[in-house]
Amino acid sequence: MTGLPSPSSAMTALFMGTGASVGVPMIGCSCPVCLSPDRRNKRTRSSILVSAGGKNLLIDTAPDLRLQALREGLSRIDAVVYTHAHADHVLGLDELRTFNFIMQEEIPIYAPPKVLDRIRTMFSYAFSDVNREGVTRPRLVPKELPGPMEIMGIPVQPFLVEHGPVMNTALRVGDLVYLTDCNAVPAEGKRVMKGASAMIVGAVRYEPHESHFGLAQAVAEIEEAGPSRGYITHLSHRMDHATLEAELPPGIRPAYDGLRIPVG
Ligand SMILES: [Zn+2]
Ligand SMILES: [Zn+2]
Ligand SMILES: [Zn+2]
Repeated sequence: MTGLPSPSSAMTALFMGTGASVGVPMIGCSCPVCLSPDRRNKRTRSSILVSAGGKNLLIDTAPDLRLQALREGLSRIDAVVYTHAHADHVLGLDELRTFNFIMQEEIPIYAPPKVLDRIRTMFSYAFSDVNREGVTRPRLVPKELPGPMEIMGIPVQPFLVEHGPVMNTALRVGDLVYLTDCNAVPAEGKRVMKGASAMIVGAVRYEPHESHFGLAQAVAEIEEAGPSRGYITHLSHRMDHATLEAELPPGIRPAYDGLRIPVG
């Protein structure tokens, strides 16, 4: 025993973004939430930053990664873990270049094997052996995340969840569950989620959606797993922050960009 706090007990999670796939406000929309002056209704695309032991683990590279990093004064990313290869979760990958410049290090990116294959296809310029276009490329080290493993000394366990016609990966990172894009959790996933101290669950709107939870489903999933704190993320312009905050049961809060939470 060193007497130092374990990585999980000192862990925090920062909401880099909490928006659904098009963000809030949405281009061309003049609904009350898109026009709201409440800064908690300004939602960049969903991603979180898990920090422990002075290191930063980014979950997904949202298209807004540059703005998120500027807002948070972030200059170090030690590793990235991807949940799935949908555009709103990966299109900020090229922004990792700037962190390569600052840190003078390559950045490992972890994803389940199929997700890694999709990312290599989407960003072929970044992963091909030859730099044909002569562009400055991010320097990344792809690593498969086929099952539970330690990343930055934190146990990370991927588990499959249903996301409309595709399977998505949710993550348990130490005592934190990150379950963004999902409309049903198979039994194995429910087992993994049990005993987490905090849970972040996506709900795009009040009503169920073909590939996402509606709000009641997200709340039910949190209540079933029983963490001490739950947060709702991946919110569309149909959800007003203050209204949602007043409606949610005790222990469950709507997340907003820039919110940092303790984990464990
Ligand atoms: Zn999404
Ligand atoms: Zn709107
Ligand atoms: Zn998705």
